[in-house]
Formats: sequence, structure tokens, C-alpha cells
Amino acid sequence: MEVENLSRYRQAIWDEPLLNQLSRKGRVSYSLPSIPPSMVDKIGDFSKLIPSSMLRSEDLGLPEMSEPEIIRHYVRLSQMNFAIDIGMYPLGSCTMKYNPKISQRIARNPKIANLHPYQHEDTIQGILSILYELEQMLCEITGMDDFSLQPAAGAQGEYVGTLIIKNFLKDRGYSDKNRILVPDSAHGTNPASAAMAGFEVVKIPSSRTGIVTAEAVKSLVDHRTAGMMLTVPNTLGIFESEIVEVTKIVHEAGGLMYYDGANMNALLGRVRPGDMGFDIVHLNVHKTFATPHGGGGPGAGPVGVIPNLAEYLPVPRISKSNGKYHLDYDMPKTIGPIKSFYGNTAVLLRALCYILSLGKSGLKIASEQAVLASNYLLSLLDKASYSPTTYEGTPAKHEFVVSSSPLRRKTGVVAGDVAKAILDHGMHSPTTYFPLIVSEALMVEPTETETVENLEAYAETLNSIARDAVKEKEEVTNSPHNTSIRRLDEVKASHPNSMILTWKQIQRSKRN
Ligand SMILES: *Cc1c(COP(=O)(O)O)cnc(C)c1O
Repeated sequence: MEVENLSRYRQAIWDEPLLNQLSRKGRVSYSLPSIPPSMVDKIGDFSKLIPSSMLRSEDLGLPEMSEPEIIRHYVRLSQMNFAIDIGMYPLGSCTMKYNPKISQRIARNPKIANLHPYQHEDTIQGILSILYELEQMLCEITGMDDFSLQPAAGAQGEYVGTLIIKNFLKDRGYSDKNRILVPDSAHGTNPASAAMAGFEVVKIPSSRTGIVTAEAVKSLVDHRTAGMMLTVPNTLGIFESEIVEVTKIVHEAGGLMYYDGANMNALLGRVRPGDMGFDIVHLNVHKTFATPHGGGGPGAGPVGVIPNLAEYLPVPRISKSNGKYHLDYDMPKTIGPIKSFYGNTAVLLRALCYILSLGKSGLKIASEQAVLASNYLLSLLDKASYSPTTYEGTPAKHEFVVSSSPLRRKTGVVAGDVAKAILDHGMHSPTTYFPLIVSEALMVEPTETETVENLEAYAETLNSIARDAVKEKEEVTNSPHNTSIRRLDEVKASHPNSMILTWKQIQRSKRN
């Protein structure tokens, strides 16, 4: 569809009437079979069956509309937003990958969705066996020995991991070990989780090539080192090449190695954190396997550990004995429950469906395709506007970061302008201004399912915006032109008192 065409369907969100405004008395969107006279004779007046004190005295005031009008209202609203099912959505680090619809269907199966967490163990053997199997698969994928599926997000997985490090060291009498090393390229959740668990965070500066070097780690490690968190591939989208040396240094100092596996979708079937010497791993199954991140919905950040840390995992744990599954709460060393019941089951189910439908070889191919797509897209970019942050010859993994500083120097157009201009082309922007160590950062993650044509179109869009920035700068700096909401005042938008959250506020702000 032409971009201009698309825009004709888009309107400002405040021009969309509410259901109550669209309502007309007597309009209906349903037809019910009439009650046979014999039934009426038998039951009489229905309202008499309900005690009068419980009868509604006033009309409920629901909107009365025809079915097409209801459908159109909601479809119009849905078109004011962007979605992976509309176009390419390479939001780096968030892995907005296409979700196989079969995963959604299975997760919504009423036999699973209607289970209640307070049901007796005997009546939930099915779901327990499913989750138990998923734990086993994650162990196989990561090279860990035990997994808890309970954490509801990557950040919560990190918190669990750092609490495990704390309790493990305390039990062994290492009260002076209170520091965790975190690279400066890490996701902000890493230092936040370590600090929440009570650790002092020591920042490791990245090398000129964007990695953590053994040399840098050696200079920061001492008797106070409790552990280190490492993201692989790191936030610049590159594989950390000194892992084995780094792991050795931290272990020799008596610390534990934590693997942030939010980006495991780059490495499935290739390498396993367990084989690289890590002690604790979290996976973002909502990025790596299915359920796109960044939509604000629920996630799941399962945590895997080596054998001597298993007793610290959150409760309940799922165990199997005599062919029956149990939820175990009786674990003296556990850090305790971290989330109600046993985690976000629907997200976990989607991950399981994705793993089972691709199988061992399919997962490996998915990672290979994701890496190939990212490198191909990077190769097509105009390097005089978007400079790569990896050194010549270092391949990107599933995502890459470019700096649009050259474009800014040439034209004054900043990364935020580029991101807004992309929206006018019917595509979603990359992640901007992250990681913090890159100025004018654009972080692109195409994922494994984009076609060659889409990758080429995306690169051409970025390149054409760079050309427009020279020729018609205002066009770019005033973009987006075709979306239902144009530029937001970002300072105002993040201030609670000025946020417009209801339709009434929209009407008021329109009048003012
Ligand atoms: C997304 C991400 C996280 C945090 O995961 P949440 O589920 O958002 O809490 C942590 N580390 C990395 C590298 C990530 O990409």
C-alpha cells in the first residue's frame, strides 16, 4: 500500500468518536432466538424470578450499535498503532519477532487458560508436566542443570540470580564479598538488579572494540568481588570474545558468573552458557522464543543454575516422583517465592510451542537467519551517514548498533528525527539512544523472519532519510507526517501531571 494511501485511513486519535457517541437507541448487533411460548407459559415473567431489591432500576446505558459499526471502531483504533503484523519492527534489544499464531492458539486453549492456581496438584498434572518439560529443554539449551520458570521478566530473573549469589556467598561465610562487576554496555536492569540485591556495582569500561577484556576485569577484581554479570551477545550486538579468560579470573577470585541471556536468540544451538563456565543464566523467553517484548505485556525470565546453586532457586519447584509431578515448597535454602504461583504460564507455553515446532535444528537455523539478516541489513547502509560501532571484520550478531553522528554533523538531523521519519514509511523505528555508550545510537534487530525484500526496503528507507536530510531537512525534522499522533513533547509526556490519559482530558486539551 502506498504510504499516502495508508495515511488517509489514519486520523488523529481524538477525532475518533467514543462508543457512547456512536450509539443510537434501539440499534442492535445481535439477534437471539425468540423464547418458545411454551417456555413463557412455564416460567412466566422472568423479572419475577429475581428479587425486586436486586433488580436494576435504571437503564444500564450500554452503547447500542450495529455490528459493522463496532468492528469499524475497533479496527480504526487498531490502525492508529503499529504492530509486527503490519510491518517491519526491528526494535533492537526487544526482539519484536513474528509470533507464530499456533503458539497463541495453544496458549489460549481453555483447558490450560481456565486452570486455577489453587487447584489440587492431582488435577493439574498436565500443566505441571508441560512446565517440567520446558525446564528440561531450557537446561539442554543453556547447559544448566536446574531451572525455575517463576520470574516474570528478565529483570526479575536478574534479581533472582543476584539474590542467589548473595545467599550462596553468605552461607559460605564470605561477608566481605559485596561487589558485582557490570559492563558499561549492559542493559540498565543489570546494575539495578545487583543494587536491589544489596551489592555495590562496579562498572567495567568496554574496550575500543566494544567488548569486555580480561585485562579490564583483572584490574577490577579483588577479594570483595561477589560476581560478574555479562550479556552475550552484548548490547552492541557482538560476541564477547574473552569469556573464557574473564570467567577464569572471576572464579579464581571466588566470584560467580552471571549470564544475561536476554539475547540468546542469536546463539541457539551454537554455544551454551553452561559450557562457557557461567554459573547462573536468565533467559528472556518473551524475546528469545516468542511473545514480542516492548508491548508492555507479561513476560517470563526463567533462571537456570549449576548443581550447587539449585537449592537456592525460588519456590515452588516442580519435581517428579513415581510418575507424578509435585509443587515443592519445602526447600530450606530457597530465596523464597518471587512471583505469585508458578510464573506467567501463557508466556511460557508460547515459548514451549516455539521450541517444539522448530526443534533442535530449527532453533539453530532461526538464530543463523537472525544473524544473517542483521549483517545483510548492516551491509546495505550508507556508512557516511550511519557509522558501524563494530570494528571492520567483527561480524554483528542478531542486532547491530550504528551511530548517526556523521549524519548529524553533516545536516543537524539527529537519531530521534531519523526514528520519526521511518514511521512515515510504514515501518517501525529502531531502538534509539541505546546503548548509552554510543552517541546518536540506532539499534537495529531485524529478527529471523524478515524477507530479503523487507531488509532491502528498510535499508533503503534509512538511506533515503539520510538523503532527504540534506535536500529537505524540514521534512525530516517535522516528521512523522502520516501517523495518528505526531511528535509528542517528550518531557511533558513523562511528567505524570501533564499526561493525558482519558478521553475527557483529550477533549479538554483540544478546547484549550
Ligand atoms: C530486555 C533485556 C533485559 C530486561 O528484560 P525485561 O524482561 O525487560 O525485564 C535485560 N537484559 C537485556 C540484555 C535485555 O535485552
